Amino acid sequence: MTDVDAWRGQVRAWLAGTVPPRGPEQDASGDLAVFRNLSDDDEHALLEAVRAYRRARYDAGYGALTLPLEHGGAGLPASYAIAMAQEEAAFAVPPSTELISVTTGLVGPAVAMFGTPGQRAEYAGPLLRTDLLACQLFSEPGAGSDLAALACRAVLDGDEWVLDGQKVWSSGARFADHGLLLARTDPDVPKHRGITAFLLPMRTPGVEVRPIRQMSGGASFAEVFLTGARVPDGLRIGGVGEGWRVATATLAFERTASGSGTRRKGGTVDDVVQLARSLGRTSDPVVRQQLADLHVRSVLRAATAERVARAAAAGVSPGPAGSVGKLLASDLLVRTGETAADLLGGRITADTGEGFAWTEHLLGAPGYRLAGGTDQVQRTVIGERVLGLPPEPRVDKDVPFSALRRG
Ligand SMILES: Cc1cc2nc3c(=O)[nH]c(=O)nc-3n(C[C@H](O)[C@H](O)[C@H](O)COP(=O)(O)OP(=O)(O)OC[C@H]3O[C@@H](n4cnc5c(N)ncnc54)[C@H](O)[C@@H]3O)c2cc1C
Repeated sequence: MTDVDAWRGQVRAWLAGTVPPRGPEQDASGDLAVFRNLSDDDEHALLEAVRAYRRARYDAGYGALTLPLEHGGAGLPASYAIAMAQEEAAFAVPPSTELISVTTGLVGPAVAMFGTPGQRAEYAGPLLRTDLLACQLFSEPGAGSDLAALACRAVLDGDEWVLDGQKVWSSGARFADHGLLLARTDPDVPKHRGITAFLLPMRTPGVEVRPIRQMSGGASFAEVFLTGARVPDGLRIGGVGEGWRVATATLAFERTASGSGTRRKGGTVDDVVQLARSLGRTSDPVVRQQLADLHVRSVLRAATAERVARAAAAGVSPGPAGSVGKLLASDLLVRTGETAADLLGGRITADTGEGFAWTEHLLGAPGYRLAGGTDQVQRTVIGERVLGLPPEPRVDKDVPFSALRRG
């Protein structure tokens, strides 16, 4: 294995020959939205730009850096993925989208790890190269934090499974070719044991994707309704009843994902300082306190992220530090929006050019308190695993799913 610093030099040379250097347009603070609000045409154009880059990156051998060699990845430690992300930051790499991140960071690796040799050959490479795009069909109206309570059913009929149920909050589902779906195949065993994973083609009859309009404007999520949709047994990922293993591995990729975040999410402390300057408010003592508070929180967040990255680079599981980092990040995002709103006053509600971009931040930030595990769930992890507090009662652990009372 090449030393990470030498490898970094190779990456830089490849980037220099492939994408232009980062310019002022990438740094423009116009992109304050946490979730984009794009027309379908613009979304397609963005996806194509990102795919062109991701294909070039995959073909150059920089695709699935941390995925083990036997699963078709480069088998490198996380420090290489971190180095790649740091080098990419200096170039005009197209900003990633949720669907691309889910495809290359979650579904592609899951198929590569749990798929049969045939499934790997047919799907894993194309997913990692973004030739195919896939969303994550896990959450349901009654199963989010308690994902194992999912109720979408899959019943075997010959060599096909018949799917009935509803998924929700599926990022990018409208533009996805496939979805990594969790369904209940055995209701008569405890909830974690009766789940199976499938790679569902989204154009299957009986699969209906309905966009969800968000309060911040865009419609990047969807509800997915499954009504008698049939998926061949050949698209089952992992064994029957082993979906929870696929799910936990996929969620672990989500928590440790690094190297794919080439888009900043929402406005930063620097953007708020710039806003305060442009409004002539930097000598107001209350504003100064708010800005200082944001700055301190931002430094703490960065230090925690660095600690998690270092642990990952050293091959140590970041463990609960990941939860501390997630909590600090979502809290900072919310506070940043609130400070901008305080500064703008009533103008935040008007499309004056300066204010509305912050509205998109303010209304999008709460979504990050939920995505990837809610604030409360992170606090539970911290309470149990950092502070050693008594665990939450988990009374349904050994009860068959069919015997559970569900609301
Ligand atoms: C931006 C974004 C992107 C997403 N993308 C996807 C996707 O692509 N695919 C997908 O499958 N899902 C996706 N989700 C769904 C996400 O995983 C869920 O929203 C999340 O797991 C929370 O589940 P829930 O919304 O059902 O809330 P619930 O679990 O119903 O929680 C409701 C409230 O109760 C609290 N709560 C729940 N349980 C506990 C507890 N034990 N202790 C204390 N408080 C508790 C929660 O913190 C929350 O405040 C996305 C969500 C967001 C916001």
